[in-house]
Amino acid sequence: MKIKHLLLFALIPTFLVMGCVSKKDGSAKKKKSDGDWKWVTEQFADIRIIRYKVPGFDELSLQKKTLLYYLSEAAACGRDMIYDQNYKHNIRIRRTLENVYKTYSGKRTGDDWVAFHTYLKRVWFSNGIHHHYSSKKIMPGFSEAYFDELIANSAQDKFPRDRGQSVADLVTMLKPILFDPKVDFKRVNKDKGVDLAAASANNFYDGVTQKDVEKYYAERIDPKDKSPISWGLNSQMAKSGPNTIERVWKVGGMYGQSIEQIVSWLKKASGVAEGPEQKAAIDLLVQFYETGDLKKFDEYNIAWVKDTESEIDFINGFIEVYGDALGYRASYESVVQLTDPVASKRIKAISERAQWFEDNSPIMDEHKKAKVKGISAKVINVVMESGDASPSTPIGINLPNANWIRSNHGSKSVNLANIVEAYGQASKSSGVLEEFAYNQDEVVLARKYGGLPDNLHTDMHEVIGHASGKINPGVSEPHTTLKSYASTLEEARADLVALYYLYDQKLVEIGLMPSIEVGKAHFNDYIRNGMMLQLRRLEVGEDIEEDHMRNRQLICKWVIEKGAKDNVVEKKMRDGKTFFIINDYKKLQFLFGELLKEIQRIKSEGDYNSAKALVEGYGVKVDPKLHQEVLDRVEKLHIAPYSGFINPVLVPVVDGSGSISDVKVTYPDDFTEQHLYYADKYSFLPNKN
Ligand code: ZN
Repeated sequence: MKIKHLLLFALIPTFLVMGCVSKKDGSAKKKKSDGDWKWVTEQFADIRIIRYKVPGFDELSLQKKTLLYYLSEAAACGRDMIYDQNYKHNIRIRRTLENVYKTYSGKRTGDDWVAFHTYLKRVWFSNGIHHHYSSKKIMPGFSEAYFDELIANSAQDKFPRDRGQSVADLVTMLKPILFDPKVDFKRVNKDKGVDLAAASANNFYDGVTQKDVEKYYAERIDPKDKSPISWGLNSQMAKSGPNTIERVWKVGGMYGQSIEQIVSWLKKASGVAEGPEQKAAIDLLVQFYETGDLKKFDEYNIAWVKDTESEIDFINGFIEVYGDALGYRASYESVVQLTDPVASKRIKAISERAQWFEDNSPIMDEHKKAKVKGISAKVINVVMESGDASPSTPIGINLPNANWIRSNHGSKSVNLANIVEAYGQASKSSGVLEEFAYNQDEVVLARKYGGLPDNLHTDMHEVIGHASGKINPGVSEPHTTLKSYASTLEEARADLVALYYLYDQKLVEIGLMPSIEVGKAHFNDYIRNGMMLQLRRLEVGEDIEEDHMRNRQLICKWVIEKGAKDNVVEKKMRDGKTFFIINDYKKLQFLFGELLKEIQRIKSEGDYNSAKALVEGYGVKVDPKLHQEVLDRVEKLHIAPYSGFINPVLVPVVDGSGSISDVKVTYPDDFTEQHLYYADKYSFLPNKN
């Protein structure tokens, strides 16, 4: 599970000490000021492109640098898979657009060209033609006629055609896909009443209906199984005659060409692993990729959870199921990371007290874990991201996702410090806080504590939030019982644990925050964001789709409604602008606790009807008037609602004997160049899979 982006205004985290940056020639090091480092490289459509640094890289041993290099290569090799998973035509479309960008001989200036380039950048950003967040099809800002002109004046032999297909055939095929808003308009369709498998444009289901999927798993999943595999995690479901089949993603199977490359880099990584635990985990991951056996994936996860000592760690695989409306199939992602030892102390202070937090939680006693096991939490710095984690990145990750592994073996949580730092630097002076805070006191309070409330929220969301609570005996995993509402409620549960404790004296007692005021600053931000600011990500008239957004609005609306008689949160108008003011922080904390208790009950009992009522009643519908107001207020500030990142590139220095003598970290600063480089180096899959 992951937190996908900053909740708040991204002030500057105070805990991060930036390391040294080596000069280009690598001969000397000096402490550079941020003055000559460009955090934000460009802004287009609704997107802002940011860079991040890897503090501490140059001080690593050669073995660790080499390990990071191998893992980064493994990460990049899976990149094509996310495009194909997101939509079956994505790879072909991307290659068509890239060929135009590289070879078009006409005028490369003017509105049309800019619109084309912007569209291509948006496709890279979203790993396909559907918006990375709303999952709706991105409409090109140029005409079909201009598309014809681009195609006609680009290298004809380089277009991604099937055998016997002419360029004209390719264009005929692509036009409705690109330009007709009705064709495959949504990647993940969770609308009420639709067939969740058939109505989603993603490539997880081929000719299969929701009924087929439900029948297939009803025949296979044993609700009494105490250690169920993650059914469907690594396959496409398709029809073969009357039968429903799975096309497994493995060496020799679907996506085999990409996975073989990943495996070859993982085998090298295994050779330079930090210790036997890490080596065991990498070897099991290799076996999983080679066999596609989901039992191996569980074994890998158990081994991975045990490896808590390594300074370098990574995620590589089919991990999160947000992209599948039915919650079975996982998108490819990889995050390669380096521990930040100083900042990890903060998160450790929380994880060490996991049992205290569980015991003192407002949930019902029968839903509490008697023993919260093995929660390992770290602050890390990202070295490389790929797949579902890039260019749009999470800021917190808690894995594995299988509940029984989490209960029996624990889980690992990370807070992505250098990403949070980069976000903070990029939005320091955006003006959003001044616009949406009701008064100067709120602004001062927010500025005073900077990124601390946000960091504590992320830590607690991941470390004690997702890890808390238990499911009643005999009740199946939430995505089976709560279906399309499971992810939203899981995120709400984790957020509520964080919210509840952020206004608890315990955090002051254990030295994590200087004052309970930190909680006030956080509550202010959370309500402002959940009720107003996050709406900037939607177009007028749209419902909320994305799980984290649904969860935030659900929480805010619910506590405001339940606290209305005591005026806990008050809606105020001033100069035609809406503000939400918190009058009673203690009561608000109590209400967060009440909602946490109810959502835990729903999860523990598998109460589908209550889940549906909560999400549909509070999380989906948007007040159109307030929505328009938010858009108007944000527009004046000229800030893009979404951000994504350019990754560093690790470059090995090879000596005369062919072995690696050093690895340099380089920081590209052009989004387009980065993606052309990736396309050139890591295109392993056919146009259609
Ligand atoms: Zn989460």
